Amino acid sequence: MPEGPEIRREADRIGRQLRGARAEAVWFAFSHLQEWSALLRGVEIRTVESRAKAMLIRFASGVNIYSHNQLYGRWFVVKRGDMPRTDRQLRLAVHTATHSALLYSASEIEVLHDDDLPGHPFLARLGPDVLSEHVQPNDLEARLVDPRFRRRSLGALLLDQGFVSGLGNYLRSEILFVARLAPSLRPVDLLAHQRAELANAIAEIARRAYRHAGVTNEPAEVRRLKGDGCSRREYRHFVFGRGGKRCRRCDATIVRSEHSGRRLYACPSCQGVAGDSRT
Ligand SMILES: [Zn+2]
Repeated sequence: MPEGPEIRREADRIGRQLRGARAEAVWFAFSHLQEWSALLRGVEIRTVESRAKAMLIRFASGVNIYSHNQLYGRWFVVKRGDMPRTDRQLRLAVHTATHSALLYSASEIEVLHDDDLPGHPFLARLGPDVLSEHVQPNDLEARLVDPRFRRRSLGALLLDQGFVSGLGNYLRSEILFVARLAPSLRPVDLLAHQRAELANAIAEIARRAYRHAGVTNEPAEVRRLKGDGCSRREYRHFVFGRGGKRCRRCDATIVRSEHSGRRLYACPSCQGVAGDSRT
């Protein structure tokens, strides 16, 4: 399932074609949204932004198309007049003079005024966006000692979009490995320097995944592994998806466990955790 970095890259990709252009036509599959087509025609598209796993197409008139893909929604960006080959059902189409952004299969599509955004049920509960340039490790460190979060396990906290938005399951395992922490620990169990390292790891690993299309491993290590002929699957992560393989830092066997209902990978030696060695 795509996480914050993947959704942000998708918003960038759509934005490259839509930003600054006028919407020549906007089409909605859902009848209760169709009245918006006439109101959005001819309006300039200001930006395309992601908010955790949701996307906003923001129009200069102060209107936004909000969409959340859940597990099945999929965006295509094509030249105007082209249609992608897919059996999926088209739910939203935004056409400029030259391109079309087409959203298939998603069921969560809404039209919201700028004023509606802060009170929107999904957007209102999001914590600071880990990919935002305005969010610094200091802000994340402060959040770790906030009474709302400090007694929750790190394994649960890192999936909670209300704590920090944009993280997801692969990032959780990778961040905990980089910070050398077990998922059962809580922020209150950590020393100050461990909280600082965790805050740094949250920001650095999520941003690295955004810059490098989902790769969280260190760039120098990725180059070395690529040079050895390793596949993306092999070089992409430190521990995620590598159950039964060797930790590249200490040579122990990486273990898989379940935490908060999702699979989690960790190095028992670097992070002091138990688990099994399934992949
Ligand atoms: Zn290790």
